[in-house]
Amino acid sequence: MNVFVSDTLQDLEEKGLRRELRTVESAQGREVVIDGKRFLNFCSNNYLGLADDERLKKAAAACLEEQGLGAGASRLVCGNLSAHRVLEEEIARFKGTEASLVFSTGYMANVGIIASLFGAGDMIFSDRLNHASIIDGILLSQAKWKRYPHCDMDALEAMLQKAQGYRQKVIVTDTVFSMDGDIAPLDKIVALAKKYDCLVMVDEAHALGVLGENGKGVVEYFGLQDQVDIQMGTFSKAVGSFGAYCCGRKMLIECLVNKARSFIYTTGLPPSIAAASCEGIRIIEDDQQRRQQLWENTRYFVKRVKEMGFETLNTETPIVPIVVKEAELAVQFSKVLYEQGLFVAAIRPPTVPQGTSRLRVTIMATHTQEDLDRLLAALSAMKI
Ligand code: PMP
Repeated sequence: MNVFVSDTLQDLEEKGLRRELRTVESAQGREVVIDGKRFLNFCSNNYLGLADDERLKKAAAACLEEQGLGAGASRLVCGNLSAHRVLEEEIARFKGTEASLVFSTGYMANVGIIASLFGAGDMIFSDRLNHASIIDGILLSQAKWKRYPHCDMDALEAMLQKAQGYRQKVIVTDTVFSMDGDIAPLDKIVALAKKYDCLVMVDEAHALGVLGENGKGVVEYFGLQDQVDIQMGTFSKAVGSFGAYCCGRKMLIECLVNKARSFIYTTGLPPSIAAASCEGIRIIEDDQQRRQQLWENTRYFVKRVKEMGFETLNTETPIVPIVVKEAELAVQFSKVLYEQGLFVAAIRPPTVPQGTSRLRVTIMATHTQEDLDRLLAALSAMKI
């Protein structure tokens, strides 16, 4: 094993793909402290700045006091606490679905949902840029699958035309793509699904709290309530907390409770975390101002970064890729920014396709214009 491990690390090093952990010593805010130094944070998914919000902390603390720390067992044994139920009722109400189920993470939700609902005899159509957890769920399901080129509806339709004789067919897509920041054409996907008698599953991880008039995500953005069969999303991004959900018909949720192994064979989410997520959802619903500020910041930053001539792909959201192509270059630029107190992640393969390495800037509602200007000035000096 030692040879395998050292060869693997050396190989990654040579390709400029070796990754290392950095330790943040402060809370997740617009600023973070690393090695005792303050950095402006441009790489978290904490879009609304709720991860260190007093109201979420208070909700968690109150629940911690009442229900303790650990859930003690898996949900189906004795680890199903009232905090879980309250969150499930809240997210179902917020999303306007019959029911919902909380999973411990988004990764586990995707793996559990896909592998329990689909299997041999089924066909899954998956956008080429879908999140790794969707891909892992598909692999675990043992269903047949086809990847369609990113957001290419003609290619998807051609695949759908040919797919016959399957027990179930489903189109799975991220609604906001986590590394490109573009929005899936969900209106067209739903229309194709209807035409070809297909189910639709969406991952709203980066859309919840960000898109839609009330922050409910891309399903709301396109007005497709009741037209998407399986809606998954996370509490770990704009909600500022941790964990994930699946919502839809009551029957679907009951099936997941009985079949999704990543739900069944794991300890329930700590109840205090569920209480914090609930508070996050309430803030998203009540505080439209935060979302407006996020979009104001995003429009300001994207307009200027485009004017500088950077390749930002088709971003339509607070996720702003700045493509530099080579992995080494992305790392180098990230280092240059880091030296100036600007924390921007370099994203390399296998997270993104070969030759598309990038800086991934994420904008927050709590960034000030001065923060954005500091990053813009540093980028304009870099001549990518
Ligand atoms: N889906 C998407 C699109 C994501 O970006 C992520 C996390 N980066 C996940 C699922 C997994 O969510 P979690 O971090 O809660 O496991």
